[in-house]
Amino acid sequence: MQDKYEVLYRYFGYTAFRGGQAELIDAQLSGRDVFGIMPTGGGKSLCYQIPALMLEGITLVVSPLISLMKDQVSALKNMGVSAAYVNRSLTSEQIRLVLRNIQQQKYKIIYIAPERLLTESFLAAISNLKIAMVAVDEAHCISQWGQDFRPSYLRIADFLKLLKKRPIVSAFTATATQEVRDDVERILGLQNPLRIITGYDRPNLRFEVVQPKSKPLALLDFIEARPEKCGIVYCSTRKEVENTCQMLQNKGISATRYHAGLSEEERHTNQDDFVYDRCKVMVATNAFGMGIDKSNVGYVIHYNMPQSIESYYQEAGRAGRDGENADCILLYSPADIRTAKFLIQHPTENEELSEEERSDIIKRSLIRLDAMIGYCNTNHCLRGYILEYFGQEHPQLCGNCSNCESTAEQRDITEYAKMILSCIYRIQEQLGYSLGATLVAGVLHGSSEKRIKELRLTELSTYGLMNHVPRSEIREMISALENQGYIISHPDRGDLKLTGKAREVLFHGEKVKMLVRKKKREKPRKEDAPSNPNTAGLLQELKALRLTLAKEENMPAYIVFSNATLQDMAQKAPVTMAEFLNVSGVGNYKAQRYGQAFITTIKKYLGED
Ligand code: ADP
Ligand code: ZN
Repeated sequence: MQDKYEVLYRYFGYTAFRGGQAELIDAQLSGRDVFGIMPTGGGKSLCYQIPALMLEGITLVVSPLISLMKDQVSALKNMGVSAAYVNRSLTSEQIRLVLRNIQQQKYKIIYIAPERLLTESFLAAISNLKIAMVAVDEAHCISQWGQDFRPSYLRIADFLKLLKKRPIVSAFTATATQEVRDDVERILGLQNPLRIITGYDRPNLRFEVVQPKSKPLALLDFIEARPEKCGIVYCSTRKEVENTCQMLQNKGISATRYHAGLSEEERHTNQDDFVYDRCKVMVATNAFGMGIDKSNVGYVIHYNMPQSIESYYQEAGRAGRDGENADCILLYSPADIRTAKFLIQHPTENEELSEEERSDIIKRSLIRLDAMIGYCNTNHCLRGYILEYFGQEHPQLCGNCSNCESTAEQRDITEYAKMILSCIYRIQEQLGYSLGATLVAGVLHGSSEKRIKELRLTELSTYGLMNHVPRSEIREMISALENQGYIISHPDRGDLKLTGKAREVLFHGEKVKMLVRKKKREKPRKEDAPSNPNTAGLLQELKALRLTLAKEENMPAYIVFSNATLQDMAQKAPVTMAEFLNVSGVGNYKAQRYGQAFITTIKKYLGED
């Protein structure tokens, strides 16, 4: 009997399990039901694929998503596992063929759409087979409380009842509130399942919220700074998708688009272009992504604020599934709130809902939206905010989000406040009129600009009083004083006057504080750190080879090898088959299949050929 580490190494090329995987695998191997709750990218598929390879009999994997099934089956085949899928993307001729093969026990793992489970032809095909396990992927689809309720998932329970011998049942999901969890266990009829919740944190994702002056420019800057990466840009409306995609294309960026208004054919083509790395950037509405298993997504940018933390985390979580550092950026503008509210209040018609249910849903959505707005405005750790939302404990600072990277402190600015307030007072007293913030700051800083001289402001006793403070910083303090009600500015002209409250500071010792946000020095990130120049060159060669192989086999590049694997390969630079097998992510089958080609390239690069 093989052991699970052997299988992990032989097929997947990994040497260690991630959190939760080993326990879940052991339980299934001992015949127990399991329920695994892991974030996207946490490594759920391996949790049922390894037992499937080790148990006697076949394993059925129920999955809602056609593209995901295709992807996983390609990946399995490329590891030397006999697998197939049954769903509506196949012609009836193809289905007949697959069913015949199933009957002849040609596959170890079969992916199947839930609505196919109860078809006569499928039931007939499996009637004489030993079904060791039924693994339910995206198990939250079974619950009406979940965001992606699929009635066809309810048939899984009926299917299980039809089987002569009950198989092991395992369920997996990334999203699970308590109601959803209860539903999954109850409706699927899990028996004393081992429940493993690995937590929601994805440490390799960096979170950032920006409120840029111009979103198009901010987006362009970001993408152009990462020419070698591919990523997803989410927009909240179809129109915004069209405009943004066009804008990027005009700037020479290889971008494509996806939304529900496009023909099925175009959606299909565009999605494939992105998955197969023919296009770097996918601009899409939230219709895109469910079931996209592409592991090398380097960033997910939200061009608009989404409607809930749940959706945000699910969409942003599509970055960095290969475990490499990746960015999740939200380009926020207060106008996004209006759009989001409008979209919530005008949902697509659903005739099954009563008026009351409809208004209930809207109410709940608005509460979720509030939490999302909170995320965009918080001064606290962004990762902490998300984890808190999902009810998970977390350290106060993560060190890998835009808020943790800048420090905010309450600075005592009382002395400066006094100087600013008395300057405004003097100007009014001595000149008989008021000035706007720019000029006041100029006076205090001791600027020699023409207008200050013309107005003879140089003669004021406060002129140059703050000459060691940059003018921009003086401006910020003036805004802070205005925000705190010590100054008011004329709504049209902008000139400044003191309020009664200013006296408290000038004469009664009241202290003034201001929140200052300082950007910490950027610490170099792992991937950005000056990489070993030798490996950088080799990595390029390996990537080029991967692309060639992927094209020859008409497969997405990441199914050949993931970025993480190529990086390890460049580092180890294996020149023998034994060394090649030591690279993380290289299993036996892939070593046989690709080893020679990669070793040749490496030798050539090292000049040993
Ligand atoms: P999920 O389905 O939970 O979103 P996947 O099963 O797609 O996640 O796994 C995400 C990535 O992590 C895949 O590239 C997979 O090969 C990799 N992975 C899974 N388990 C391990 C492990 N134990 N060691 C290294 N990489 C792993
Ligand atoms: Zn943080």
